[in-house]
Amino acid sequence: MADADVVERFAAFLRERHLPVTQQRLAVADVLLRAAGHLSADDVAAQLAERGERVGLATIYRTLDLLVSCGLAEQRDFGEGFKRFEASRDVPNHYHLTCTMCGSVTEFYDARIVDIIRRVADHRGFVPSQHRLLVRGTCRACRKTPTVLDRRPL
Ligand SMILES: [Zn+2]
Ligand SMILES: [Zn+2]
Repeated sequence: MADADVVERFAAFLRERHLPVTQQRLAVADVLLRAAGHLSADDVAAQLAERGERVGLATIYRTLDLLVSCGLAEQRDFGEGFKRFEASRDVPNHYHLTCTMCGSVTEFYDARIVDIIRRVADHRGFVPSQHRLLVRGTCRACRKTPTVLDRRPL
């Protein structure tokens, strides 16, 4: 179960902005904020359906955007043609290895990446406010599958 406080924080955010605090919005927040992974709007819809909650995709998209606006969730783009969302966690700036065969996502963090960006930016008098790193490829499990042709590495 997601931290009840987190869903309550979302409700407070909605009230502050005079936006309706609906059962549907709270259900979307609860699904995303309790999930460990990176969910698309369709994933959220499927999980809501499993729970017997009927929430339209437009409401799901809008609610996911609101969760990002209030800082409780992060939006991810793994180059799949649609967005994914994950609950914000303490890890400040983690990166993702996304497998194009099975869709698995492995998270990692390496301070050297941040360091390189900082140095490159510094050198040009540039102040970075955000950055994104996309690493797509084939995970270990998929590379072991004999039916899968090994993709040429980078
Ligand atoms: Zn894989
Ligand atoms: Zn992640």
